[in-house]
Amino acid sequence: MIAANKISRRMSPVFQIRFSGKTLRRWMMLYAECIREHEQMLTDLDAAIGDADHGANMSRGMEAVEEKLGMLPLIDIAGQFRVISTTLMSSVGGAAGPLYGAFFLQASHATVHKQELGLSDLASAVEAGLRGVVQLGKAAVGDKTMVDTLTAAGGSLRSSCNHFEALPDALKACRQAAHRAAEGTVPLVARKGRASYLGERSIGTQDPGATSAALLFESLAQSVLLASLNPSIPITTRMQDSILL
Ligand code: ADP
Ligand code: MG
Repeated sequence: MIAANKISRRMSPVFQIRFSGKTLRRWMMLYAECIREHEQMLTDLDAAIGDADHGANMSRGMEAVEEKLGMLPLIDIAGQFRVISTTLMSSVGGAAGPLYGAFFLQASHATVHKQELGLSDLASAVEAGLRGVVQLGKAAVGDKTMVDTLTAAGGSLRSSCNHFEALPDALKACRQAAHRAAEGTVPLVARKGRASYLGERSIGTQDPGATSAALLFESLAQSVLLASLNPSIPITTRMQDSILL
């Protein structure tokens, strides 16, 4: 049974906030900007346990996504996820391109015909995306990859949904869970990808893919929170046409 205070909370304006096609576009613009800001950090992490290209890979991919979405009229959520997927697959070299491509392709399948996403839909999209990454890369939780972050983020969204949380609160919790999972890769031994060649020497470095995935959920939270707190905040001039929910 739902408690009375939960029913009244569910009628408050914060519960009316949903995730639209414009929110998705803003999420991607924010993620592109966030990746640009953190490119060097991602490169440094990959230099420590890989081949020092994760920052450049993600930067190139998100710049292509930014450009592609910027040229498109505002299409539905599933259509945008599909464009993001194909753009990342074709523009990112290395493991991360196909893996993130698989994530967004499955998110697209999970959101077909939806004009807006509620928390449950968003959780389903992330869970489907995670399944796509696991199907392709065969990594499990604890293998020190992006799967660690995606699993924590999907789990957090589902748990918030089960507790009838509002979308902004759920995304704050999700962001925190994602960052914690990425930080949790530091003491792990890499068992998948290039870093696994190092064996025990991969201990002590945060996984670059787990880190870029945490930034994905950081940007997701911002895409909804900025609009819900103050829709007039100009995030960047590049984003001004996608500022409204
Ligand atoms: P590459 O390893 O080909 O140079 P990137 O440096 O762009 O590609 O991406 C590396 C990241 O990809 C890793 O930090 C890890 O999170 C992720 N990754 C690599 N292999 C796998 C896999 N099999 N499953 C899930 N994630 C993986
Ligand atoms: Mg690399």
